[in-house]
Amino acid sequence: MAEPVRVVLSGASGRMGRTLAKLVAEQEGVEVLAGLDRTGDADRACDIGCPVLVAPEDAGELVRAADVVVDFSAPEFLARLLRAQGDALAGRALVVGTTGLGPEEEALLAGLSASAATLTAANFSVGVNLLSALVEEAARVLGPAYDVEVVEAHHRRKVDAPSGTALELGRAAARGHGVELDSERRDGRSGRPGERPPGEIGFHAVRGGDVVGEHRVMFLGDRERIELAHLAQDRALFAEGALRAARWMAGKAPGAYTMRDVLGLG
Ligand code: NAD
Repeated sequence: MAEPVRVVLSGASGRMGRTLAKLVAEQEGVEVLAGLDRTGDADRACDIGCPVLVAPEDAGELVRAADVVVDFSAPEFLARLLRAQGDALAGRALVVGTTGLGPEEEALLAGLSASAATLTAANFSVGVNLLSALVEEAARVLGPAYDVEVVEAHHRRKVDAPSGTALELGRAAARGHGVELDSERRDGRSGRPGERPPGEIGFHAVRGGDVVGEHRVMFLGDRERIELAHLAQDRALFAEGALRAARWMAGKAPGAYTMRDVLGLG
C-alpha cells in the first residue's frame, strides 16, 4: 500500500483547521502529523488530538517530515511560517487557504514557488472555481456594456472584505473584458460617488450571522440582467477541496499551481 500523504495543518485550532483534521481522520491515505497555531489550547487543538506547536519558528523538523503543509490561519501567521521555514519547505508542497494576503505574503509565496510546489486559493469549492470560469466567459461575451457588480455575504466573524473569492471573481470578469482588475475596481459606494463609469467592477460586502459564504456576480444591461451565483452551505466543502488539493499537490514539482490545475478546468 502507498505511504499516506503526511500533512501539517497551520491554523489547526481554527474553524477550518479543525474541520480539515476531522475530514483527514475519516479518510484513507492521508494523515496529520501535527498542527501549528498561535494557540496550543488543548480544547481547541485539532480534534483528532494531534500536537499543536505555537511557534512556526520551531517547526523546521516537522515541516521536513511532511509532504504538504496546509495553511488556514491569518496573513501574519503565514508570513512568519514562510519567513522561518522557506528552506524546510523546499521540495515539499504548500496549500494556502488564508485570505486577505498582502504584498509581503504574496512576494514570499512567489519566491517559495521556485523551490516548492505552492497553491493559493481564495476558495476551494469546485462550484466557485467553475463559477469563475463561467464569469470570465460571460464577461467576454457580454462586454463592458453590461455593468459588473459582485455582491458577497459572509458570517459576522470574517475580518477581510471584500472576500478573496469576490476579488477572484472580479479578476475573472476583468480578464473577460481584457483589462486588469486594479484599474476598474470600486469597493462599495457611499455619499456622492457620481455616475457609474463604464467598465467599473463594483464590490459589495454583507456581513452577519453564520452565513458560510455567498457570491453573486451581476451583469446589468439596459434591457436584461444576467446573474451567476454560488451559495456555500457547509464549510466542510472548503475543507474537502483543500484536502483534494493537498493530495494532488503531494510530490509535485516546484511551481505555482491553482485550483484550476487540480480540477482540470484548464
Ligand atoms: P479562524 O479564526 O477560526 O481560525 C484561524 C486560526 O489561525 C485560529 O486558530 C487562530 O488562533 C490562528 N491564528 C494564528 N495567528 C493568527 C492571527 N494573527 N490572527 C488570527 N488568527 C490567527 O478562521 P477560519 O474560519 O478557520 O479561517 C482561516 C482563514 O481561512 C481565513 O483567512 C479565512 O478567510 C480563510 N478561509 C478560506 C477558505 C477557502 O476556501 N480558501 C474557506 C474558509 C476560510
